[in-house]
Amino acid sequence: MFHRKIAVFTVAAVCICVFFAAGPLPAQSRGLKAISAKDLKVHMDLLASPVFEGRPSPSTAVEIASLYLAQQAAKRGLKPILPDGAYLQPIPVEVTALSPAKSRLRVLSPGGEQVLYFPQSFAPTSIRMTVDGAFSGGIVFVGAARDADEKSLEKVDVRGKMAVAVGLTLPEAARPAAGTPPPFSLTRYLREKGAAGLITIITPEREKNLSENRLNFDIAERLAFPSVDMSGRGSSAAAPAGAAGAPTIPFIQLDVRHDAGAAILGIMPAEMEARIDAAAKGGRLAPGPVEGRSLEASLYFDTRETVTSNIVGVIEGSDPKLKREYVTITGHQDHLSMREGSVYPGADDNASGAVAMLEIIEALMIERPKRSVIFVWSTAEERGLVGAYYFVQHCPVPVEKISANLNLDMLSRNDPNMVYFVGSNCLSTEFDQILRAAMKRSVGLRIDDLYQNPAHADRFFFRSDQFPHIQYGIPGVWIFSGTTPDYHTSRDTVERMDFAKFEKLTKFAYVACLDIGNRPEMMKLDVRPDVTARGAHNMKVNWRAR
Ligand SMILES: [Zn+2]
Repeated sequence: MFHRKIAVFTVAAVCICVFFAAGPLPAQSRGLKAISAKDLKVHMDLLASPVFEGRPSPSTAVEIASLYLAQQAAKRGLKPILPDGAYLQPIPVEVTALSPAKSRLRVLSPGGEQVLYFPQSFAPTSIRMTVDGAFSGGIVFVGAARDADEKSLEKVDVRGKMAVAVGLTLPEAARPAAGTPPPFSLTRYLREKGAAGLITIITPEREKNLSENRLNFDIAERLAFPSVDMSGRGSSAAAPAGAAGAPTIPFIQLDVRHDAGAAILGIMPAEMEARIDAAAKGGRLAPGPVEGRSLEASLYFDTRETVTSNIVGVIEGSDPKLKREYVTITGHQDHLSMREGSVYPGADDNASGAVAMLEIIEALMIERPKRSVIFVWSTAEERGLVGAYYFVQHCPVPVEKISANLNLDMLSRNDPNMVYFVGSNCLSTEFDQILRAAMKRSVGLRIDDLYQNPAHADRFFFRSDQFPHIQYGIPGVWIFSGTTPDYHTSRDTVERMDFAKFEKLTKFAYVACLDIGNRPEMMKLDVRPDVTARGAHNMKVNWRAR
């Protein structure tokens, strides 16, 4: 009776899967039917909605997202594994931003002084590049940044002065191809000639957006994570000012609104607009000193301490012995902060992975593997894989007992029949083979290995939460559908997601988790002679040199 019942159930499951997925989906697991595009969409509509303002980390918005995910996961049966029965794993973070209370620009002229405020009138061009401190001195106009070159500036003395340029958006055709450096760097030129800094009067498009929407500049934040070791990530983006042979003297870089630009140059706002208009239409603005005026800049940063949290929980394995070994499933919950009024909803990146994990829990509650499965919704992935590093470095279980990691990040775009595997073959042949077999047996997508190579120009190998696992000698794969022109823009929305592909990749991850979790042994480390046992000692392996 019992057997017969199961047989009927299995046949029904096959029919349902074939009907909805329109692909080869043998019902090898009863849990598969719990994963549906319809359910995925419900959570996507919430997490990728503009009310979450892109779930930047740290923020109140991402904390609310965390509470939602933790609650949904607990409701589905995910159990706590952190000390004190918590689901949230807080990570200390130091947030540094320019202080609105203390930072000023003062324009001094025979007529008196005019004070400009942050973030109403000016802001750092890049939070990374701006230094703490004060400047006082003369002003020199260098024309439109677009037109500047050695020749246009040869008669202009910029030494010790604050240079002011007009920012203009280059026409598409005139932009250098992605990855190629611009032929002339105004910033580098000014640094070399001993200027004190560069103030850029923002582009007409940016000015229009700020003024029409009554916005100030954003208060950009620089983050530090004192309890996280992110060495070896090989980030080029994090290179501080002064690195790589650049001069180490302070160089101030600010953006200003159009009326602030007029005040600095000592012209009327209407005259400022007329000059910018003329330049936008191709006219040249003559560089030269701004006589009789000087500038005092006081730029001071404030640092506050806060936390941002991973969500961590476990589904206990079905085998009394193997349940003390683990598979981790990761997916980052954070995305990017709003920029000048635009929300970056991060639907594919990575509400998709975070939501897939809820569905995988449901499936695992129906059929679970012998090993336990730890779920980690990491935080601050977009800030350098911070949450995933923190997890392996403050792991609630011995890292030696983690068999493998499945990382879900961006599951719903591009070719509906293709997926990228990133990292699957770098530590364990067995891991790579199991994943390929699971793909074939489950949803049958074509596996593209383009990004497996750490030396690939896009460096995806280093760019998601599987990498901290790999640095700990734990075989990990990033299941990835690739980037699109919408990547890291306001167009990464639920409407643009392919839910059929999303459902398939979620099902694949579930099947792969079962296969790895049910193996008699943990995934064998057989690829690199220098990585033979899991643990922190592997952090010294240089993955860039290969
Ligand atoms: Zn991502």
